[in-house]
Amino acid sequence: MTSLMSPASLTSLSTRAPLSADSPGAMGEVTTGTTLATLTAAAAQVGFHGSSTLSGAPASIVDALKDHLVSLQMPGSLEVVDDVLRQLDGGALSPTAAMERLLAAQVVLRRQRRLTAAIHAARLPALKTLDTFDFAFQPSIDRGQILNLHELGFVTRKENVILLGPAGVGKTHLALSLLVAAAQHGRRVYYTTLADLVLSLVEAERLGRLRERLAVLKAPAVLLVDEIGYLPVTSGGANLFFQLVTARYERASTILTSNKSFKDWGTIFGDAVVAAALLDRLLHHCHIVNIKGNSFRLRHYPGLALPDDPPLAPRRGRPRKSPPPEVTERHLG
Ligand code: ADP
Ligand code: MG
Repeated sequence: MTSLMSPASLTSLSTRAPLSADSPGAMGEVTTGTTLATLTAAAAQVGFHGSSTLSGAPASIVDALKDHLVSLQMPGSLEVVDDVLRQLDGGALSPTAAMERLLAAQVVLRRQRRLTAAIHAARLPALKTLDTFDFAFQPSIDRGQILNLHELGFVTRKENVILLGPAGVGKTHLALSLLVAAAQHGRRVYYTTLADLVLSLVEAERLGRLRERLAVLKAPAVLLVDEIGYLPVTSGGANLFFQLVTARYERASTILTSNKSFKDWGTIFGDAVVAAALLDRLLHHCHIVNIKGNSFRLRHYPGLALPDDPPLAPRRGRPRKSPPPEVTERHLG
């Protein structure tokens, strides 16, 4: 897989940028944000206002070339133009190769800026990539399966991925890494925890804007729903999440992480019937990554015995016997 951005440059991104993009729909269509002032400054830096020191081309033509790059808002090309011309004059580059290098510099810059913007808009809690994942620490993970998932065929096929395992084993790390890989390939991605997602759906319903909110959450090619199982979901919240899962079913990929096995999902969602219906859709086209091992966070305390996951807080009210009537496909936008 071609990496469009080095891990070092990815790490330098501020992933908590205060973007107002509450909507994943805002992702991926980001302009470079280059201002004329920035370009002018860049032009000055590369000697745009002085006469060219290059022997081959008259200074006026080099100046005109840089002028065009400024007008076309191509700071990437502007940055390399002197170097390219020097190599062209020295015979290190053919005219065709020189043109290619000039344009490639701009393409790389544009991709990096789009990726940065997409990652900001996706609201990732941290930037994680495979480069920093230590497979040796977690031998239960099938490295081949993870590498294969990073080829992103599952996104094209609109399949899901569910990562299961106790706390600290790397579920979120791997899920985020898949999200970054998808963003690198220009796919719209979005991160949320189940708790935040349900809150936003409940709020949208309260404001009479559920249909719009579901439409927005349907848009990303990959939606990561993290932390299923840490907090119980109200029955209303479970129904809303079910509507979202149904809306995305066979239309877009959803990645989920959970510290609970599927048999406990009835407790998480407060209703065995809704949980079964959820799993029925999620598992139909799904890759399961079941991680069994120790917490990476606690790797320096190998003898530490942790309590098992505490049971979820009991829910109030009587459990429903059947799915509520509003949970039907015809209500989906
Ligand atoms: P989980 O989601 O399973 O609770 P995380 O993915 O949040 O666990 O991992 C906890 C921390 O440990 C994160 O900072 C993550 O980057 C790191 N981590 C987990 N597993 C590994 C690993 N095998 N190699 C490198 N870092 C890891
Ligand atoms: Mg996690």
